[in-house]
Amino acid sequence: MTIRYGNPNVFDRATEIANAVLESGEFYDAVRAHKQFDSTMMSSAEVARTLSQAYKHRDIKVVTYRPRNPWSRANAYFTDSRPNHLNLNSRKNRTEVQWALTIIHEFTHAAGFGHGDNSRSGKGNTVPYGVEPLALEVIRILGL
Ligand SMILES: [Zn+2]
Repeated sequence: MTIRYGNPNVFDRATEIANAVLESGEFYDAVRAHKQFDSTMMSSAEVARTLSQAYKHRDIKVVTYRPRNPWSRANAYFTDSRPNHLNLNSRKNRTEVQWALTIIHEFTHAAGFGHGDNSRSGKGNTVPYGVEPLALEVIRILGL
């Protein structure tokens, strides 16, 4: 038996998983095959192309922040004032795969897709939320 310290590299590993998904053809195939997303005028094929182009051409960094309020509910945020940063709440105790899905969600914001306010309800088919189950399926397929 080995006793190990939790997982100090959860964000590194999550970023690696998110990159593997966003580098995979399977992810963009799944986005292309998806029915029309809500809150966008783009077809799913155009969404796939936009995400793939953003991934290829943008230099985006995952950073963590520690909110003063320990009960802050947000897992992460994206702001247009720092458009190349995806900000993850380091107080949240989540798995690598959960964080990878959050990184991909925030990445779609960086690529220009939104879902209005921060409530999750009724937003399941917007691009940011709608790609999460697609990404999860790719994670399973690729064995990440
Ligand atoms: Zn969001």
